[in-house]
Amino acid sequence: MTSEQQASERAAALDCLRRGQRFALMLHVRPDGDSIGSSLALGLALRRLGKTAVLVRADDLPANLLFLPGIEEFVHYSEVGGEFDAAVFLDCGDLDRIGPAKILVERARRLVNIDHHPSNQRFGDVNVIEPRAAAAGEVAHALIRELGVSLDFPIACALYVALITDTGSFRYENTSAATHEIAAELLRAGVKPAEVARAVWEDRSLSSLRLLQAALAALEVSGDGRLAWTTLTREDFQRAGAHSLESEGIVNYPRTLRGVEIAALFLEEAPGEVKVSLRSNRRVDVSLIASHFGGGGHARAAGCTIRAPLAEARELVLARAREALGGGRAAG
Ligand code: AMP
Ligand code: MN
Ligand code: MN
Repeated sequence: MTSEQQASERAAALDCLRRGQRFALMLHVRPDGDSIGSSLALGLALRRLGKTAVLVRADDLPANLLFLPGIEEFVHYSEVGGEFDAAVFLDCGDLDRIGPAKILVERARRLVNIDHHPSNQRFGDVNVIEPRAAAAGEVAHALIRELGVSLDFPIACALYVALITDTGSFRYENTSAATHEIAAELLRAGVKPAEVARAVWEDRSLSSLRLLQAALAALEVSGDGRLAWTTLTREDFQRAGAHSLESEGIVNYPRTLRGVEIAALFLEEAPGEVKVSLRSNRRVDVSLIASHFGGGGHARAAGCTIRAPLAEARELVLARAREALGGGRAAG
């Protein structure tokens, strides 16, 4: 896509945001910092322009993000009434990512799709897709600016959380000069990086550490050391007393093992329903593996949900991962 096309997409989105009066901002299922941060920031910015912005969730919000100012504004989709000039999607590669909240789509005149997933299905009437952006929050930042809304403290905090969660605190490949420039602006708007980092990463529940303990106990590594994975069963969650969302970030432990190229976490969400998280370090595009199973994501972070017994789902994914590593049986 040329930069002219990108500019005209942005202009179309801005036109829609300026003309509309009532908006719904839609979180994806199992919402992460980017989904929440980018939606909250744009929603608050629209409110500053005197518009109605309903912040819609389908799932619980992760406990470590409840510190965000404005987070209490999210409402469960089942409690949302009325019609919308537009439903706005941030960080959603396809329409199914909003889960059961999809029933609200019929009540929206237009769909505005704002994202950074290269695999985005362009399901909107307006699509602003910027794969080079580290987070949907980067795209939201650009739009908020062009709407003429200054960055107040709650908007800045929300955008900062979007940036640090999708870049692993500016460590991942998607981090660019632009990411740091935006972060600098957010700090000038009052964000305290140490406070946010402590709230997001270092204020953990005992149950989440117990879950990590179970995941590390179940760690497995392929013979050639290039593939590492772990598994969390429903029993593990029960024993740890952990909420399903408390597995966030665990896949990064196998990823950090020296020599590993692909890391995976297999999470038994319900009997016969396995959520798979995939990460890669340098070479393999794990979004291709995830899309094969109906999921998606980025080259270095992707996921999918497989309806099969845990052991079966795991074998299916590991076989694909070995293939992607090009080692055939050698990786086993
Ligand atoms: P996770 O492993 O859940 O942290 O997800 C990593 C990334 O993969 C997310 O940021 C999404 O871009 C993508 N992703 C995860 N699960 C799915 C899914 N079921 N469908 C499409 N994309 C997904
Ligand atoms: Mn996300
Ligand atoms: Mn994202």
